[in-house]
Amino acid sequence: KHEERLQKVIAQSGLTSRRKAEQLILDGKVKVNNKTVTEMGIKVTSDDKVEVDGVPLEKEEPVYYLLYKPRGVISSVKDDKGRKVVTDFLPGVSERVFPVGRLDYDTSGILLLTNDGEFANHLMHPSKEVNKVYVAKVKGIPHKKELLKLRKGVISDNEKLKAVYVNMLSSDKEKKTSIIELTLHEGKNRQVRRMLEAIGFPVMKLKREQYSFLTLQGLNAGEYRSLTPKEVNQLR
Ligand code: URA
Repeated sequence: KHEERLQKVIAQSGLTSRRKAEQLILDGKVKVNNKTVTEMGIKVTSDDKVEVDGVPLEKEEPVYYLLYKPRGVISSVKDDKGRKVVTDFLPGVSERVFPVGRLDYDTSGILLLTNDGEFANHLMHPSKEVNKVYVAKVKGIPHKKELLKLRKGVISDNEKLKAVYVNMLSSDKEKKTSIIELTLHEGKNRQVRRMLEAIGFPVMKLKREQYSFLTLQGLNAGEYRSLTPKEVNQLR
């Protein structure tokens, strides 16, 4: 059974912060298996009955959302500089959700949010090889050969960056721009922007259209929906 420190378990239930949880323990307000615990750092498992002020701790129900992240929003749950964050777009959600991975401030598109840490870690693990499909508007019109380099892998900041699939969807000869679709398994920092920059086609606009089998269908920018239990199972 997975053991965790008591104050962490209290904090994760959404009841309070870690620090306040420590204070509750010191104040003698926490019971484990009907016994008051005042020393710090004891470990509990899901078999242990934890009570705060006589009320049993309830684990938050796991919840799963799909957000169409607009541009100009930070992929975190709070921001020091007061910029908009993704959880601002889930106003009816009281659970403590966090994003599964990140999209850049200027990138729009599909982003999953959950309070299920194991689920999130599983999806973000490189071995899981989740398909992430991006559509980029770039400056310039690349040749097939240049796009092929992205599948072989390009070096940026001493990192090899690879796409599993690359395709030019369209180009505008007058404006000298094109629309490129890329599928990645990895999710390194600013990966699409760095890859296209590396072959000389800077990104003007970027959107993530798909995450695994999930798309943005039925949503406008800034809107979200719950994943169905079936979708959650398919992602596991
Ligand atoms: N690649 C990027 O460059 N930015 C993103 O937000 C996602 C992938």
